[in-house]
Amino acid sequence: MSGHTTRLRWLAAANSIQLLVNTGERYPGLDRRADVVVKIMSQVQLVDRGFDGGACYEWQGPTSGSAGRGHSYPRMNLDSQTVAVHRALWVCLHGYLPGKKQLDHLCKNRRCVLHCEPVTHKENQRRRDGKAPRKVKI
Ligand SMILES: [Zn+2]
Repeated sequence: MSGHTTRLRWLAAANSIQLLVNTGERYPGLDRRADVVVKIMSQVQLVDRGFDGGACYEWQGPTSGSAGRGHSYPRMNLDSQTVAVHRALWVCLHGYLPGKKQLDHLCKNRRCVLHCEPVTHKENQRRRDGKAPRKVKI
């Protein structure tokens, strides 16, 4: 996916988030996705970290902890299950996300729940090793 397409996708996602929040706040219980997005956004702050894709949607709630390889990823409780917030938001906005796909943070901010792109584990590793560009060109 080109950087331009990715950026447009985030803009569309931001619009979708706003629409879902409006719906969820006005008609709680009507739309499951809207309710989940409202819940997520109640713990998100928009923070400009200098990423050229725009302000990060930074999670202020609990995370996967402060140590270990998988640390600092946003976690929340949904139907008595602990889920990854960026994955939950992705599904609310874009629909099905195959279990094998990982969401790579192009902004490199693990607490961000917006600037993600679904990739294979292999591709994610390749990017983490610095063999592929992560910067989004506008
Ligand atoms: Zn971000």
